[in-house]
Amino acid sequence: MKTFAAELAYFFRGQARKNIKILTFYCSFLTLLVMTYAALFRFLMWELEGRDYSFITGIYWTITAMSTLGYGDITFSSDPGFLFSAIVTLSGVVFMLILLPFGMISLFLAPWIEQRLRYRATMALPAETSGHILIFGFDSVTRTLTRHLQNRRTPFVIVSPDHEQAIALEEEGLQVVYGTPTDAKALRGARVEAAGHIIANLSDPENTNLCLTARSLCDTPIATLVNEPEHQDLLRLAGADQSIPLKNILGHYLASRATTRGALAHVLDSFGSLQIAEIPVQGTPFVGQTLAQAQVRQRTGLAVIGLWERGRFTTPQADTILSPKALMVLAGTAEQLKALEKVTGEEESEDRILILGHGRIGCAAASFLERRSVPFILIDCQSNPDCLDHVAVIGDATSPKVLRESGIQEAKGLIVTTNDDSTNIFLTLASRHINPDIRIVARANREENVEQLYAAGADFVVSNASVGANILSNIIEGKESIFLTEGINVFRRDLPPELIGKSIQDSRIRPRSGCSIVALERDDDQDPLVVPPPETILAKGMGLILIGSPEQEQVFSRTFRH
Ligand code: AMP
Ligand code: ZN
Repeated sequence: MKTFAAELAYFFRGQARKNIKILTFYCSFLTLLVMTYAALFRFLMWELEGRDYSFITGIYWTITAMSTLGYGDITFSSDPGFLFSAIVTLSGVVFMLILLPFGMISLFLAPWIEQRLRYRATMALPAETSGHILIFGFDSVTRTLTRHLQNRRTPFVIVSPDHEQAIALEEEGLQVVYGTPTDAKALRGARVEAAGHIIANLSDPENTNLCLTARSLCDTPIATLVNEPEHQDLLRLAGADQSIPLKNILGHYLASRATTRGALAHVLDSFGSLQIAEIPVQGTPFVGQTLAQAQVRQRTGLAVIGLWERGRFTTPQADTILSPKALMVLAGTAEQLKALEKVTGEEESEDRILILGHGRIGCAAASFLERRSVPFILIDCQSNPDCLDHVAVIGDATSPKVLRESGIQEAKGLIVTTNDDSTNIFLTLASRHINPDIRIVARANREENVEQLYAAGADFVVSNASVGANILSNIIEGKESIFLTEGINVFRRDLPPELIGKSIQDSRIRPRSGCSIVALERDDDQDPLVVPPPETILAKGMGLILIGSPEQEQVFSRTFRH
């Protein structure tokens, strides 16, 4: 039944759909022709032979004549009548017996057969295939991942149980294996044992099943995305090497960028004792000062390694003015962040965050704020059955009344996290209009909408697809890396042997690769040296924490090979 439906669906897409229009037009023409002949038949029979026939008889006679059946039960007996019969029969031959079948064959049957012959779903990859990344579950995250893999020339294969999707992806030039992801035969066909990595992006139960099946066949590393963080352990038990609670990570990213509360609330990730945090300039005493005047380094030991403003990342100079709209990217230890809290604490204003959308991501953002005692209000058009911890205002956030009544005018921060990007863009625009000073952090479900969200007035946009795809790419490449946003990574490398004994200045890491050193890890238990001065000597056993774009990271790897 499914196959029949899939075959039928062929006639309703692409060129076949256009051809159906042509066919409908032609059939209308034929109907009109039959009607006209039927009317003429009645008229001529009456005028020439004095016989009166009904219109239905006219249609019957025309069809038998046009289709050359000609039963001979009703015939003319005069020359003009014979002439008319001959014209009707001849036009029937042309329009009904030649053009109609020809059209049907050339417009429908031939393309359909050609398509069937051309597309034989690949069920098994060639025996020599190896090192490929196997992707199960194709959505915006894995689509972005495939772009990363294409840029890095890493081969990948998508396994799809959906015939239609398999065709569509193959037409895009992607390599696809058609099969059920949890079926051992399909996994063998996809050469799972020779694959470089497995990316499981199905539902939690399907991912678990996939992990178990793959583990019964081979040891290929598996990275899986998980919907419910409670399932993380189960997936590990089933054999996953990494399980990524993406929605929680997204909630965390959104929340940490929305609040102006204490510096420790902004830690994004860490490399050992080195923490990377992002803190809004607003709510700190540094607003309007230059980086040199702010003396962040002297007062706290923290290094400002970057500045974000409306999606633009820059490396700050001593004379860069710290705008209240900017977000500082800081590197340092937990103690140093505590020291910053002391400095900013004096200025700490009452923070209040509005969260629009209480799905899994909004809920994770709320939990994050709750742990840091930041007050928040959740708004959703329906209650979240999976959440027992929060009480949300039930209402449509697109209504200005709901927004005003929830206190948007007084709120300091806003997290826009519905599952629909058009709604998110609308909500960003409407909220910016009501409260021009509010800090808006918006979620983009599709990467294409990041720009529109910034244009609508968001201060920071976090994209599902980019975050997910970057985490997965880093895992595939075995990189220890923190993803800040599309285009900027903080990553770790062992000190290349050729640089041992050189000073940072002499190593020429920045001029040669474009990457900057964020910190130096020392092999003893000492804290990392954050943004070390240029004269620091690079010693054996040190780890480099660097910041740069993915391209700069590649240049680094090429320039400083082991
Ligand atoms: P999730 O993708 O799991 O984070 O869920 C997104 C949430 O956004 C769902 O709980 C939706 O009910 C919610 N949502 C979608 N549109 C609106 C809206 N116009 N107003 C309020 N909440 C919304
Ligand atoms: Zn919740």
